[in-house]
Amino acid sequence: MDFAFGDEERRLHERMRELGLRAGEAASPRRLEVLGEGAALGLSIGREWGGGGYGLVATAHAYEGLGYALDDAGVLLAAGAHLFGVAATIEKLGTREQKAEWLPRLAEGRVLATVAATEEASGSNVAEVDGTVQAAGGRTAQSEGGGLLRVRGDKRFVVSAARAGLFLFVGKNLGATSTRPSLSCALVPRTEGVVCEGPYALAGLMGAGLARVRFDLAVDGGAMLGAPGAGMSVFQVAMTFERALVLAFRLGAMRRELEESARFVKGRKLGGVALASKQAATHRLARMKLRLETARSLVYRAAWELDRGGRAHAEAALAKWHVAEAALESSLDALRLRGGEGYLREHGCAQRLDDALGGTVHSGTSDVLADIVAAWLG
Ligand SMILES: Cc1cc2nc3c(=O)[nH]c(=O)nc-3n(C[C@H](O)[C@H](O)[C@H](O)COP(=O)(O)OP(=O)(O)OC[C@H]3O[C@@H](n4cnc5c(N)ncnc54)[C@H](O)[C@@H]3O)c2cc1C
Repeated sequence: MDFAFGDEERRLHERMRELGLRAGEAASPRRLEVLGEGAALGLSIGREWGGGGYGLVATAHAYEGLGYALDDAGVLLAAGAHLFGVAATIEKLGTREQKAEWLPRLAEGRVLATVAATEEASGSNVAEVDGTVQAAGGRTAQSEGGGLLRVRGDKRFVVSAARAGLFLFVGKNLGATSTRPSLSCALVPRTEGVVCEGPYALAGLMGAGLARVRFDLAVDGGAMLGAPGAGMSVFQVAMTFERALVLAFRLGAMRRELEESARFVKGRKLGGVALASKQAATHRLARMKLRLETARSLVYRAAWELDRGGRAHAEAALAKWHVAEAALESSLDALRLRGGEGYLREHGCAQRLDDALGGTVHSGTSDVLADIVAAWLG
């Protein structure tokens, strides 16, 4: 077992830290473009498709660098949904035509991608969505090109809803020969049949651009990702990539938060006595460090498992669950350490807490992930 990163991974991490700083200097709507220009949106996509060709461990380390430098968790969530939720899934499960059609554009950030799965009635239980994928003419949905797929559904909380040019849509597989209900996934380009409503007023993660998106359109039959009726497996692959890696940036953000908190504790004098002399304060820092290190271990463990071709379903759930909860607890500690100042918007602690809260909901709530881990235990 080797816990050290190689030179190439360290260089990439440094490059992404610089890119994160540049993105942070840009106006908020421009930040994703800056990440695309710096090749961050295609790091793990194969070189033959125009991506960086990095493994997922290296990519996680790169996103850790971005998260350290760029204090915009919403934009980094959007980048992660694009690269891990969609691009990695196409690369693993897509046909050669689908890869050739989408991966070069996704790698360069010319097209932004996102997952459209959540609906009001089914919520966390994606198996029960009402949205549909149906072969035009009512025949069995087909994975070969030639026919048309009719895609209908009303999705909510979709990241990058107004900007995405590609949606990984999850719907009921209508017209399946099997009597058992099943799902299908389709790669849906933005056309006039994709209607986005105004963005939600979110508590945090503003740069993620969440909105409701209604789909009612026909796409080429070749847009089916995976076999007809295999949508649940496709969705699980997408969620495994996303859960393993979408919060890798958080590791960097947690590290920065810990360093800032440590500086504050050293510098803050209470009637001439350093806050750093109080065990209550230093133990908060120690717990932040413990959470950071355990979160890092789980993210890299899941990424490593995926790099070696493992399924990593449970490892990814464990990583996402723990990083999200650890980030939330540590953001709360960072705020509390600053006392009244921490509660002022101008110091950013409250915003980071709101951002961290969102992390416990997307890509599977902590309750749902706990269910997956419990099932893993048998
Ligand atoms: C910031 C953010 C980004 C998002 N991005 C996307 C996106 O890009 N695409 C997309 O499709 N969706 C996205 N979502 C939606 C997100 O995946 C859902 O909000 C989440 O899966 C929960 O679904 P729900 O909101 O319907 O809540 P519900 O499923 O109604 O959950 C309500 C409560 O029930 C609990 N619960 C649900 N099921 C179980 C269970 N089996 N066991 C125990 N408790 C359970 C939940 O933990 C929660 O406490 C995003 C959400 C957020 C907040």
